[in-house]
Amino acid sequence: QCAIDPNSIVTDACTSYSDLERLNANLYPSLDDLTQHTDFFAYYRLNLYNKACPFWTDENSMCGNRACAVETIEDESDIPPIWRAAELSKLEGARAKHPGIAQQRERPKNRPLQYQLGENVDESCVLEEDDECDQRDYCVPEDEGAAAKGDYVSLVNNTERYTGYSGLGARQVWDAIYKENCFTPKSSRHASLKPKPLQAAQSLKNIFQEYGRQHVDNSDDLYPLDDECLEQRAFYRIVSGMHASISTHICWEFFNQTTGEWVHNLECYRERLHKYPERISNLYFNYAILTRAVAKLRKHLESYTFCSGDPDQDFQTKQKVLALADQAASGPHTFDESIMFQDPSVMDLKDDFRNRFRNVSRLMDCVGCDKCRLWGKLQTAGYGAALKVLFEYDENKNGENPHLRRTELVALVNTLGRLSHSLDAIQKFRTALKTGDLSV
Ligand code: FAD
Repeated sequence: QCAIDPNSIVTDACTSYSDLERLNANLYPSLDDLTQHTDFFAYYRLNLYNKACPFWTDENSMCGNRACAVETIEDESDIPPIWRAAELSKLEGARAKHPGIAQQRERPKNRPLQYQLGENVDESCVLEEDDECDQRDYCVPEDEGAAAKGDYVSLVNNTERYTGYSGLGARQVWDAIYKENCFTPKSSRHASLKPKPLQAAQSLKNIFQEYGRQHVDNSDDLYPLDDECLEQRAFYRIVSGMHASISTHICWEFFNQTTGEWVHNLECYRERLHKYPERISNLYFNYAILTRAVAKLRKHLESYTFCSGDPDQDFQTKQKVLALADQAASGPHTFDESIMFQDPSVMDLKDDFRNRFRNVSRLMDCVGCDKCRLWGKLQTAGYGAALKVLFEYDENKNGENPHLRRTELVALVNTLGRLSHSLDAIQKFRTALKTGDLSV
């Protein structure tokens, strides 16, 4: 009855900002605890340095600032033993073989995928070796396999904040991301399936004209055309909401180069967010989507094994995650995914939507600042996981739902953690604009 209308800001729909803020007052401490104090959610393995940008070559836009660097984990003794390479090789034999694409194709439609798990081994305890996507993924997966050239990073020690990465390089990535929102007529819908070269020097004006974008008088933002469908509008809002959340963290932890101090920058908030209520609305929209995805995972999480090698901690982690899903489910009816992809005339829209989102995730390899790339990759993986849960999961079924990798779950919870932090920061900034006081 009460779905968020993708054309309206959150306040116009049944769920208001204050409903979501009340929900966030509950979720914030739980998310903070999970993301800051459990090994399972604090360590993320990803391919940060070895994937070339598949769209263009532009070495000039690399960020050389110290703040752009990521502290990767060089010493394996810093990560839980079960995820160390030496332990991985011991797992040989008990390791799960994830079904490859060929096997997925052969599978009769009504039969769930079979994972050949060894005795006492669950899916979060094994590391995936192949880089193959499940066809229902909305994201190019970050592979945790020993063979992959990935690095472990501590998300706690590499906070998302101001790095100084800006200029043409950053602008080019954002433009390319928004360009993915230009859904094409049916005949050429799969145009963006394969990475395609972009002209580095292509002027913004050309990009807008070429892809039918237009500026709206009261905003600089890139708006899709008026006749867009609900799904296209949702795609745009997700991207814009992610952008708004990143901007919020830049303003919240801003480096003042004159004083050499980290500060909360109210002017930055005013210029990048407060002047653009739609950006803030899109951020709240994303919060609604992610809390719905976490709530929908409740049943799946009951049988999920949290594997960090420390049974006590794993038990605690599981209890905390289940409590989080319960809290998310107790909030307002935030987002109704069932109204999307229903119109028979747009049957192939879902593939298009998924492929475009995968392209956004590939674009993260074009981000020229390591720390921005880390959080960009993590957050696109988090939204990808949320979309997979919303559109491919049936909460009443267990066996037939697609596999949820450890990296996907870690990304989902951390992305919600970032949004939760953004909501909190925005409330404080908003108050400070009225009172002039930003003491926290
Ligand atoms: P930008 O934020 O670059 O925006 C470009 C244009 O997009 C704007 O002029 C406006 O027209 C439009 N726009 C802006 N916000 C929105 C929105 N929410 N919705 C719709 N349209 C919008 N920098 C850091 O310091 N730390 C980081 O962690 C970081 N992470 C990044 C991650 C990614 C994936 C990318 C691409 C960049 C990241 N950056 C980061 C850079 C940062 O996002 C900005 O690009 C940079 O600070 C320059 O900002 P700007 O004011 O020029 O506008």
